Formats: sequence, structure tokens, C-alpha cells
Amino acid sequence: MAGSGLSRSFSYPDSDRPTRIYPASACYSRIQDLRGLVNYGLSCCVNALLQSFSATHELVVLLNKWDIDDRGALVKTHNVPLQLQRILQAMQSQELQPVPHKDFLHCLDRNNIRLYKQHDADEVFLSILNLIQEQMSDKELAQEIRRLYMVTVEEHLQCMECRFIECGTSYLLSLPLPLREEDNTLEESFRNFFELQELRNMDECFCNRCGEKQPSRQGLRLIKLPPVVCIHLKRFRSTGGYTKKLYSKVSFPQTIDFKEILEPEQVSGSFLESEWQYNLYAVIVHCGSAMFGHYTAYIKHPGDNEWYHADDSRVRKR
Ligand SMILES: [Zn+2]
Repeated sequence: MAGSGLSRSFSYPDSDRPTRIYPASACYSRIQDLRGLVNYGLSCCVNALLQSFSATHELVVLLNKWDIDDRGALVKTHNVPLQLQRILQAMQSQELQPVPHKDFLHCLDRNNIRLYKQHDADEVFLSILNLIQEQMSDKELAQEIRRLYMVTVEEHLQCMECRFIECGTSYLLSLPLPLREEDNTLEESFRNFFELQELRNMDECFCNRCGEKQPSRQGLRLIKLPPVVCIHLKRFRSTGGYTKKLYSKVSFPQTIDFKEILEPEQVSGSFLESEWQYNLYAVIVHCGSAMFGHYTAYIKHPGDNEWYHADDSRVRKR
């Protein structure tokens, strides 16, 4: 997600960069403004997300605008945006240990994101954004946070029998890009996401003109990209009651111009030149299997423009 001077940025939860393994340690590292977070029993997923939230300058600025006087009536131990504000402030303070970290984990637990349980980073990311919408008393500010991540797309569905087309607008807070078994590039996966797909047999859709289910063609057009684009590389696939992880390689650039990736017919909105261009500043990585794994985060520090690896309590320069 973002850093100062990176007004338009992007991040990938669940990507797969090579990771270095460090010995487990209870000490905190603090390099520049990056602070390690202790693993309180399977909290690596939330820890990695907190590192990317903390690096998202735009989010930190908006959360800090939330007025303290406005929060009197809140049940503070249950309020996710309040606890998120506290932990992000603590991560950037000089305190020896960021105490609100434990409060944040317990607050998530009270909101059904359980402690001592393995989670999926994209699911927790979306749950936290939804809880901000529900629990923030300043609804205008909550909407601004939502708009920070909101990709707007136009969905169109064409009946292959009568050619009738139905359109609708959808909003996505992260882009779920399907991966192939073989090598992938981010650019290809992004383009495929917007490509026309034929829906046949079990996937047929109801056509309002024909009055029955028909084979259809479904496609997406991009209307608007937000200041922060969050990309979810879909490594987990559920088949026949169990979850499989795809280990295929995904290569991606550090800067991206989405205009060069999409075909003109895949775009519906109008964009300024600068609205296409993004810098990568955070990558959340899952290593291990679908049954048991570990999350870490790579963060690009806006101060020195170097990459750091945050593995729970350890933060190291790459
Ligand atoms: Zn039809």
C-alpha cells in the first residue's frame, strides 16, 4: 500500500517473493520507522497486514483525522477503527513496545476475527475495511477510507442467444486475480481479469429477454482506479472440500502503468495520464502450505526508498 510522496500506489497481499527465514526471537527490531510486532499465537497474518497499513500514508492520515471527542460513546475495546488508529500511532512512536498491538488483536477477536487461528490475509483485509465502515462514528471519514481502495468496474453480460446486454457497476476493495498453474506475470493476470469469459452449462446466466438461462459472455471494464490499488493474487483454490495452494511463480514490476496493460475496450472511464501510474510499496507473502503457513511483509520505506522485510518481531533490510 502507500508511503509519503507515493500518492498512487499498489500492494499485493499473498504474493510470492523469495523469503529469507530468520530465527524466532522475542525482541523487537526498529529500523527507521518500521517496527516488528510479536507473534501472539498465529497473529502473523494480522501482523503483516498492520505493516502494510502502517506504510499506507494516506490511511494513517485519514485515521488520525478522527476526532477524539467524537468517540465518547464507543465501546472502545470492541471498536476496530479506534484500535487500529492506536496501534498505527504506536508503531510510529518511540515506545519500547507497541502495547496497543495486543488490544488490536483482542478487538479483532471480539469482532469474529479469532486469535489463535490461521487466517487469509485478503479476507482479514476486507473484514477490517468493512468494520471501519460499520464502526467509525464519522461516516464521511469512513467513506473517504473506503474510496482510498475502491476500484470501480462496469460489468457487462451478453446473452449469446439473443445478444441482449445487461450492464451494472461494481466496487472492489481488492482485485482478486486468478493465477495459472504455470508461470504468471502480474500484467497478464490483470489483463485476464478484465477479459471476456464465456459462461456455459452450469455457469449459464438468466437472460431477461429470453426469459431463461442461456450461455453468456461476461466481461469487465475499468471505470476508476483508487489512490491505493490492492491486488490479491489468488493462490488458494477450493476443490472438493479441501483447499489447495498454487505455488506457481508470479513476476511483477515495482512500477506499473495500467494503461499499457489493458486494451482500450477494457476501459470505460476517462483517466488523467498520472492516474494510470503506480509504485509498489508493500507485498504480503504467504509461505508454507494451505494447511499451515506463515505470513510476512515486504515494505518499501519512503525515507530511504529501500525494501525491508518484516517477519513478526524481526525487521531487516533486504
Ligand atoms: Zn437472451
